[in-house]
Amino acid sequence: MRIRSFDSDEGILYLVATPIGNLEDITFRAIKILKSVDKIYAEDTRTSFVLLNHYDIKTPVFSYHEFNQAEKTRQIVDEIAGGAKIAIISDAGMPIISDPGFKIVSLARSQGLRVSTIPGPSASLSALISSGISGAKFSFVGFLNAKDSKREAELEEVKYYKDTLIFYEAPHRLNETLNSMMKVLGDRNIVILRELTKTYEEYISGKISEVMEMDNLKGEMVIICEGYTEVSEEVDVNSKIDELISLGYKPNEAIKDVSKMFNLDRKEVYKNYLTYKDKR
Ligand code: SAM
Repeated sequence: MRIRSFDSDEGILYLVATPIGNLEDITFRAIKILKSVDKIYAEDTRTSFVLLNHYDIKTPVFSYHEFNQAEKTRQIVDEIAGGAKIAIISDAGMPIISDPGFKIVSLARSQGLRVSTIPGPSASLSALISSGISGAKFSFVGFLNAKDSKREAELEEVKYYKDTLIFYEAPHRLNETLNSMMKVLGDRNIVILRELTKTYEEYISGKISEVMEMDNLKGEMVIICEGYTEVSEEVDVNSKIDELISLGYKPNEAIKDVSKMFNLDRKEVYKNYLTYKDKR
């Protein structure tokens, strides 16, 4: 265990949250810190200049991103160890959350250096709280893999989570992601929060199958997906059996395949399917 108090002129690493669209979504303290530090490390200096110019922040800015992380991490931590006050910002929202910076924090912490968060917006929580899907318990999944098989394996891992799931996605990958979600998670309720805090902020909700019909969704987006429920699985399982039967499968074959697909006991699936049929 390590507990340590600090001297005010020691070096420090500030992790500063910045707006996710609307330049006014920044705290007074964030502006004060960004003006007072020795250096700012930004993911993309050109993007950050828009914010920094808006608030007349003249602190020197340097780049720190995925591709120069390895060499920059040691350099930045050495600077802090030497007494520098440094702020890290990303293009939007909280650094570290699906953005670079973790390695610096980890190394700085392991050396007992000061690290402090200047909190503010993150697209994940901003989307969750306005989605209308429970935010009581949630799992942040972030970006899924671009490759179908890897993406589906990642979804398999969270398939039975009862928590609400939060995904980040780029617009050009939305269709593939929704396809994989439909295949692995079943036809759950989802909400897409698009362009949050910007002029054309938009809320799209429905079953995955319904949202998949919408074409051409552009801009930044977060997908909020309801967690696993036995009821949703039951509906999924039975509708999958119906789907296979409509494709020409014999009922017994359909039940056998679907039991395998969902990793369920065949007799149970059969029994549930009969009850489901009776109710219709
Ligand atoms: N660090 C950021 C945070 O705290 O939210 C996330 C950075 S990640 C590289 C960028 C992703 O965040 C986008 O692909 C999108 O999924 C989401 N995002 C960022 N800004 C958004 C906005 N204004 N509206 C909706 N989603 C947004």
